[in-house]
Amino acid sequence: MRTIGLVGGMSWESTAEYYRLINEHTRDRLGGLHSARCVLYSVDFAEIERLQTEGRWEEAGAVLAAAARSVESAGADLVLICTNTMHRVFDTVAAAVSVPLLHLADATADAVRAAGLERVGLLGTAFTMEQDFYRGRLADRGLDVRVPDAAGRAVVHEVIYGELCRGEVRAASRDAYREIIRDLVAGGAEGVILGCTEIELLIGPEDSPVPVFPTARLHALAAVEAALSGPAA
Ligand code: GLU
Repeated sequence: MRTIGLVGGMSWESTAEYYRLINEHTRDRLGGLHSARCVLYSVDFAEIERLQTEGRWEEAGAVLAAAARSVESAGADLVLICTNTMHRVFDTVAAAVSVPLLHLADATADAVRAAGLERVGLLGTAFTMEQDFYRGRLADRGLDVRVPDAAGRAVVHEVIYGELCRGEVRAASRDAYREIIRDLVAGGAEGVILGCTEIELLIGPEDSPVPVFPTARLHALAAVEAALSGPAA
């Protein structure tokens, strides 16, 4: 089993899920008392959020690159950035380490394609829904990506930073997301990507008339499969 490196804390609410999912999947795959070999570098999210809103992506990339180097020095054989949004700086982080960096959008696109779907709705932060770094990567993998209208995007974004990243899971916000999902489906979406790692704390398959794709789960499981497929360390 290879060692999984996690660059997390964005927010820690979802990084805790990564840790649980990685260990559960390792136990399911290997049985007994097996758990994952992993190392975690958890950042101060307030610092990252400020850099995001001020558009200081280069500095944010430098912070994550240093974190990734730390987990590599601590023994990681592969690395994950535990947030969709910060894949904005994927190339900077990938260049900083000599081990593979597993892209979250690739794991997600693979799952969508494996389900036989092509046209998907995308929920995430405004950065993820509106900029090309994530949608473009999905499109390159053959997906037709739809996002909510401006009002819907504002609601989705606000709930992420104002509630979910602070550990607040509210029924009213679940209802608002359900309505936004219904609109995406009415517009032709055959599935919905929960493209922010906290959204799966709020929304599950029961909240959507079409399949949902929970990105933290998909990324975590892909990491375990990669860790188990490599040479034993
Ligand atoms: N965890 C979120 C994501 O997957 C948002 C927090 C962040 O901005 O990194 O995009």
